[in-house]
Amino acid sequence: MTVDRREFLEKLLLGTGLLWLSPANLLAQDPCAVQHPLMPPNPALKGQCHNCGMTRPMWARTWFTYENAAGAHEVCSLHCLAEVTLMSGEDPKRVMVALYQDPDKMIPVEAAYFVIGSKAKGTMTMTSKPAFASRADAAAFAAQCGGTVAQFPEALAVAQKSVAAENQKIAQNRKRKGKIVEPVADQDRCPVCGMYPARYPQHKSQLQTRDKTIYHFCSTQCLFTFLKQPKDHVEASVMPFLIWVVDFEGGQWIYAKSAYYVVGSKQYGPMGKEAIPFRSRSSAESFAAQHGGKVLPYGQVNHDAIIA
Ligand SMILES: [Zn+2]
Ligand SMILES: [Zn+2]
Repeated sequence: MTVDRREFLEKLLLGTGLLWLSPANLLAQDPCAVQHPLMPPNPALKGQCHNCGMTRPMWARTWFTYENAAGAHEVCSLHCLAEVTLMSGEDPKRVMVALYQDPDKMIPVEAAYFVIGSKAKGTMTMTSKPAFASRADAAAFAAQCGGTVAQFPEALAVAQKSVAAENQKIAQNRKRKGKIVEPVADQDRCPVCGMYPARYPQHKSQLQTRDKTIYHFCSTQCLFTFLKQPKDHVEASVMPFLIWVVDFEGGQWIYAKSAYYVVGSKQYGPMGKEAIPFRSRSSAESFAAQHGGKVLPYGQVNHDAIIA
């Protein structure tokens, strides 16, 4: 059947309401219009990006898992993988990537082929880099949807080059979408100590629950005190979803779980002893060399470690 004839038949069927415009049918029409993010989200796919907090049920098509010295991790995208490798200074091991067209499946990146810069929608980037299981699959996609075929090292290098520029846009989007909310001066109070977090721009932090309740803290000390036992401070039951701290070096909001913290330094904050957050491990290490203390990843920071 010619394309014209198929289009004519589809229009005819649409007119009669016989053609159900399911995502599968749209996919059959246009291989480039892959539905991304998944809508509705697929709850069978579990996981949260440890670099930005986005969830696998929605962003499964661009999902990665990897290991490093601190353990096994997952990230929503090549953008987030590129960022964590730059910020940790560590090459990721045993990296697996989801197939863009079959997001339940993950394969080792050494076996994957990426299409850089096609019409396909990416995650955290304007230049998508979807993964395919073979060079032939990637080439077929690129032939129809544009872009160039590359293997993992090249795709990662392209992503690393764009991290800084993409982060500026991402920061604006997070504010616009209410994923990060600035504490209101003389209004929002720290639920642990009662002080006003807006007065402590270098040390403030915040926690958002799944139902979008936001708690603003004056400091990381109060944040981790709260996390130890939220019900000591608020009546509601708290399921932390997104947690943000401020990079002590750049002054930007950063995702708490991918930050490096200097604990036990001479740098005091609103509550005295603090975990001082940094985006990059090397910045945290040079701060600790100057001001004392040790560098800990998020998973090792807690109330007791901070006040010790
Ligand atoms: Zn992410
Ligand atoms: Zn406080």
